[in-house]
Amino acid sequence: MSILEENMNKARSYMRAASEGGVLNHINGESVPAASGATFDTVSPVDLSVLAKVAKGGVEDIDRAVAAAKAAFPGWSKTPGAERRKILIKVAEAIEARAEEIAFTECMDTGQALRFMSKAAIRGAANFRYFADQAPHAEDGQVTRTPTQMNTTSKRPIGPVGVITPWNTPFMLSTWKIAPALASGCTVVHKPAEFSPMTAKLLVEIAESAGLPKGVLNVVNGFGEDAGKRLTEHPDIKAIAFVGESRTGSMIMAQGAATLKRVHFELGGKNPVIIFDDADIDRAVDAATFMIYSLNGERCTSSSRLLVQESIYEEVTKRVAEVAGRIKVGHPLDPETVVGPLIHPEHEKKVLSYFEKAREEGATIAAGGTKVGEDGCYVAPTLFTGARNDMAIAQDEIFGPVLTAIPFKDEDEALAMANDVQYGLAAYLWTNDLNRAMRMTDNLEAGMMWVNSENIRHLPTPFGGVKSSGIGRDGGDWSFDFYMETVNVSFPRATHKIPKLGG
Ligand code: NAD
Repeated sequence: MSILEENMNKARSYMRAASEGGVLNHINGESVPAASGATFDTVSPVDLSVLAKVAKGGVEDIDRAVAAAKAAFPGWSKTPGAERRKILIKVAEAIEARAEEIAFTECMDTGQALRFMSKAAIRGAANFRYFADQAPHAEDGQVTRTPTQMNTTSKRPIGPVGVITPWNTPFMLSTWKIAPALASGCTVVHKPAEFSPMTAKLLVEIAESAGLPKGVLNVVNGFGEDAGKRLTEHPDIKAIAFVGESRTGSMIMAQGAATLKRVHFELGGKNPVIIFDDADIDRAVDAATFMIYSLNGERCTSSSRLLVQESIYEEVTKRVAEVAGRIKVGHPLDPETVVGPLIHPEHEKKVLSYFEKAREEGATIAAGGTKVGEDGCYVAPTLFTGARNDMAIAQDEIFGPVLTAIPFKDEDEALAMANDVQYGLAAYLWTNDLNRAMRMTDNLEAGMMWVNSENIRHLPTPFGGVKSSGIGRDGGDWSFDFYMETVNVSFPRATHKIPKLGG
């Protein structure tokens, strides 16, 4: 039996277990159907088969979940940080113990290749460990003194929060939000993406089996316009951590305005990788192709615009096209596969439409530009050359394995093009000139920049974007600042003179 067949057999048994009885909501420690009884199908992009029936939550389900999160808040928020840490470390261990199941489920639900998803659970567990370790001192602040007053600043969890996640790498992304929220002492209502609901169910089951009290983490499946919207409008939800498209972020901001919701947004990107002619071209090509063709290009920090200095443009684009042509597109459970099927036929249609747009706009398709096979949502790793920065293929977030290459003359032109998009999430810069790297990074409009490197995440560093790419930062203490309120208490140090009025 081939490794692929072996993996498919394993996947079938995991999917049977996961879909048994449907993917239900999880409220106050119980798996429950939607109050209305409604369901929707979740479809595998591998072959468009129905993986499971999913509870289609709405207003009533969100209200129940928020009530559970509200009831659990006093207990969880007052649980000592050291105790919360212990529970969250157990959650991390339980995630690791079920790493294969999580990876296989994620592959079948999202189409992401196993070579990348095999690390999804490990990274999810790392998120729990990292934030768990900060729980014991999360409340700490500072003391400042004046001759008459002693001010003590401390932090306290903001309350029940809503977490709304997208369909790309859903397990890892949700742990990134849920772990710091729980470590802070908040309780959570999670609304996973409708295209990829399967691993959210695993996470809550794993967390409760590891000792997370009932009601601390609740999951309501459903669509953005009903379940998602209600969560953002609910008066008992104090903050919304959202990862998704920029236009959804602005809708959420409007929906949350009436209840003055605190928001944290991680939104879209159209991230440049800028290669100067003094760079190490071998490494730059490897990094650029990795950042656009791994994870199906369905990645917010993907390097989707390739800006290359004129003198090396032909060589770099030729080499990128060769890599794109060699990449294996195939079943996500095949260990050789790099690019699996895109998440959903709707998204595939969007990505394919940009092949047409590229032709209409006069760009050249130097690699890919086609659908692969008849079944499933497979598209070829694609490179557009001869593009201009004002074309839709250079401005829009395509969110697939699709790269747009544009030549530039000099530093000024590279910088102007890099910044001339609505987004500002990440930028990748390749040069061996230190002064140029300083000048460029001082002026690039991006929340995160990597010099001579692909994206390497370090949890204590801030993650987030500028412009339409987001509001707020994740990672390190930034996550705690979002999930906690900072309060100040002032004590008199002496019997000071109080102003007397009317006397
Ligand atoms: P999306 O915005 O369509 O959906 C994300 C989530 O929002 C889903 O759970 C959806 O149901 C919910 N939603 C939709 N409308 C809503 C509403 N009116 N109120 C409340 N919730 C609503 O995004 P997507 O297509 O699932 O994900 C892809 C996007 O996510 C891309 O733009 C990508 O760049 C972005 N993303 C950003 C980061 C980052 O860190 N910046 C990370 C991953 C993905």
